[in-house]
Amino acid sequence: MDNKNIQNPFQNGMAQLDKVTKIKDFSKEFIARLRQPDRDIRISIPVKMDDGSMKIFEGYRVEYNNTLGPYKGGIRYHKDTEINEVKALAFWMTLKCAVAGIPMGGGKGGITVDPKELSKTELEKLSRGWVQKLADILGPKKDVPAPDVNTTPEIMAWMANEYAKITEEETGATFTGKPLDKGGSAGRGSATGLGGFYVFNSLRKQIGLSEKCKIVVQGFGNVGVNVAQSFIENGHKVIAISDSKGGIYNADGLDIEKLGEYKKKNGSLSGFAGSKNLTNKELLETECDLLIPAAFENVITEANAEKIKAKAILELANGPITPEADEILFKKGIPVIPDILANSGGVTVSYFEWDQNLREEHWSEKEVFEKLLPMMNDATQKTFKNAKEYSTDLIRGAFILALERISEKMGY
Ligand code: GLU
Repeated sequence: MDNKNIQNPFQNGMAQLDKVTKIKDFSKEFIARLRQPDRDIRISIPVKMDDGSMKIFEGYRVEYNNTLGPYKGGIRYHKDTEINEVKALAFWMTLKCAVAGIPMGGGKGGITVDPKELSKTELEKLSRGWVQKLADILGPKKDVPAPDVNTTPEIMAWMANEYAKITEEETGATFTGKPLDKGGSAGRGSATGLGGFYVFNSLRKQIGLSEKCKIVVQGFGNVGVNVAQSFIENGHKVIAISDSKGGIYNADGLDIEKLGEYKKKNGSLSGFAGSKNLTNKELLETECDLLIPAAFENVITEANAEKIKAKAILELANGPITPEADEILFKKGIPVIPDILANSGGVTVSYFEWDQNLREEHWSEKEVFEKLLPMMNDATQKTFKNAKEYSTDLIRGAFILALERISEKMGY
């Protein structure tokens, strides 16, 4: 979290791509095309602030590749968000949708802003402003945004409403991650976390982990909280968890629901009954069965990879491990279940939402999860098979799966 921007995440994505081409031959032209987004757009969004002044924010949308379907990917609000981060995230979305086996391409958006510094009215104006500047390129068959870090169902509802006002498009399928009563899908909120659990469970025996694991989670946003809950509901124990301010540890396991209430009241996790405080650095280096980074890029780097004591890692954030750290972990024999597989449950349920909106259907949560599970299992086992076949790590296994699907559709 603190060292988020030490390394350019887009360069990391390209380094991952280069590593894969060393073990499997893909057409040079195809790889050259994947090294560039179809387009990257920067916009300025003027917002009249509550005090009457005007502030101009910088926003982005990167449409990376739409070979498999409309560009798809979330919108991130963060003070450090910049074009290289959005480009990297859009590249990873392209691969993620391909790994998940959904008919969607890859895109990502963002605004450089700390949303905590805005009032609700200002946040709404800013979100609507993003749509006003980009409405021309969005649409159910063109580009379908969704939530990401610091963007919520409520923000998606404002955006969908703004888009409908501008275009008179009525399906609601241009934005996913909407609230349930505004065309959202059942299960979307917990899908990334639950999907991560499905992926882990599909691989659990193959990576030698038991039915009762000790889990450490970095991140207390939607993904961190939901993945922690999913593991606990399935008999595992979350022994440490953190937010941006720091973490807490309890060897007997933490009650995440109570912890959520505690954080709401106290503003931080620190001081929760029966737990001891940890820094984010200590949290990552805690001894455990499974470490789940569920916050930001570049948290496991050359500087701390040697010190990781987890038996395996499940990447729920996008790009939390640098390519150099990946090599170190591979040599240490710590399997890393990569982001483009591990967190693909979120975009898969986004795809379900888009599909339901276009068909004017509404599926129950049970139906959604019943559709999600076999897709996650299939993507996981195909990734594992590739990793075995090429004697490599799961990251390269997942890249190979995605690149084969995209290159075939592109005709290479
Ligand atoms: N922001 C999420 C991701 O990184 C979800 C994207 C979506 O639902 O389109 O996968």
